[in-house]
Amino acid sequence: MRKRLIVSAASAMALFLAVPASAADFQPGAPGIGDAYYPTYGNGGYHVSHYDIRLKYQPATDELEGTTTILATTSQDLSRFNLDFALNVQEVRVNGRAATFTTSGEQELEITPARPLAKDSQVTVVVRYKGVPSTVKRYGFTAWQRTPDGAVAAGEPEAAWWWFPSNDHPSDKATFDVSVQVPDGNEVISNGLLVGKSSKAGWTRFSWRENKPQATYLATLAVGKFDVTQDTTASGIPVYNAYSRDLGENGDAARASVERTGELVDWLSGYFGEYPFSSAGGYVPNVKAGYALENQTRVFYGPKQFARGSNTSVVVHELAHQWYGDSVSVAHWSDIWLNEGFASYAQYLWSEHEGEGTAQELADYVYASHPAGDKFWTVEPGDPGADNQFDSAVYDRGAVAIQALRNTVGDDAFFRILKGWPTEHRYGNASVKDFQAYAEKVSGQSLGDLFTTWLFTPSKPAVGPAPKAGAGGAASLAARSDAAGADEPQAVVEPKSWQKIQESHSVHADGH
Ligand SMILES: [Zn+2]
Repeated sequence: MRKRLIVSAASAMALFLAVPASAADFQPGAPGIGDAYYPTYGNGGYHVSHYDIRLKYQPATDELEGTTTILATTSQDLSRFNLDFALNVQEVRVNGRAATFTTSGEQELEITPARPLAKDSQVTVVVRYKGVPSTVKRYGFTAWQRTPDGAVAAGEPEAAWWWFPSNDHPSDKATFDVSVQVPDGNEVISNGLLVGKSSKAGWTRFSWRENKPQATYLATLAVGKFDVTQDTTASGIPVYNAYSRDLGENGDAARASVERTGELVDWLSGYFGEYPFSSAGGYVPNVKAGYALENQTRVFYGPKQFARGSNTSVVVHELAHQWYGDSVSVAHWSDIWLNEGFASYAQYLWSEHEGEGTAQELADYVYASHPAGDKFWTVEPGDPGADNQFDSAVYDRGAVAIQALRNTVGDDAFFRILKGWPTEHRYGNASVKDFQAYAEKVSGQSLGDLFTTWLFTPSKPAVGPAPKAGAGGAASLAARSDAAGADEPQAVVEPKSWQKIQESHSVHADGH
């Protein structure tokens, strides 16, 4: 009797405690996703599967307003959670109920739902907002670029904050519907396929759909007066390109380059395997920025890329990213070599194809033209640090590292790695370590020393990216320059393709 009483009292106690103990487990999601380079980028506690972005934009005043609906799944019990965003928010709803919200830091939107969210539950978040994005500065800059007749959002690693709230980190990819209303006579360009266009009362709505997982920084938006071309590649992929009508003297050279998108997608497929997306293309807005950016399926090209005539090299670089960077995205921003090293190496392959210098000649040139004391060698492409994420070493030493890999494993294994990797991790995320493990598996060789030497050592490798003895005949220029042992640039011939290769990766991150 007494015993039973004690037991039931304990049971009652346990039941009583169950509710508050459980509620106490509901914690705020982390304000960052855990990226060492950008500790506040992305957020913890949930994963996004889809963004539905529905906007109205007035080019004359740069006023943007609209609603973004986010479909997410929680990964922990959440009392509140963050999105990354910079415009003014009017209203937030979570699962239909009004939520309270506040802002903190540079781009944190802290949302407290009316009811806490249990782990592994599906959540719908609706954010209504408006602003003048070109006037909103974060970390001293805006990624929203005005043009004479509109605006463009294209930037890396941050661009989303100025037009939609998100979990802004490439490790949380999602599908996108982007639907934007603009005054009649304007075009709206975004990622994927144009699935709808209709006009009413002086406004035209364009609806775009990207149906494959996409990193938030690769979502792009352009509004303005554009000439549009549409076609299909020989392999059947729809191509949509757009050119601002006021590109002036650069206009024809831009078209002579970007109109070759279909041809170059098919050419790159020979090296990287089947094209991963359901559309391709690019756009050239009238911006001052000189860089290009590999927005998923719809590349952004600054017109200066075409100031000296056509430039297929930059088109090859950005299209190579569709496999290396967009379909297979970095796990952390420190893995940037997986994007830039390979996109640069694609330019080496194109140079070879065009008879403007072989990949070996380009690698030898990079190796020889930077003396051992050059700051160039202090940047480790495998972990360059946030300040050097887009340093030329990530591109140039990064591409030389790939030539060194090719010479180490031989052409047969090398080209199997080049084609196999984008399939192995299609639509996902991967790290430099994952790539090393994959290259070792395919080649059957231990590659630790090679990766350490070329990607993780802050000094000039003692030996250049030379072919193995007997494999390539004559000793390479790099091997000879190394034998000379002098800490001076060696006299090596600049490959014809070099200038365009260098220019195409001069600036990815604009404004900061
Ligand atoms: Zn790039």
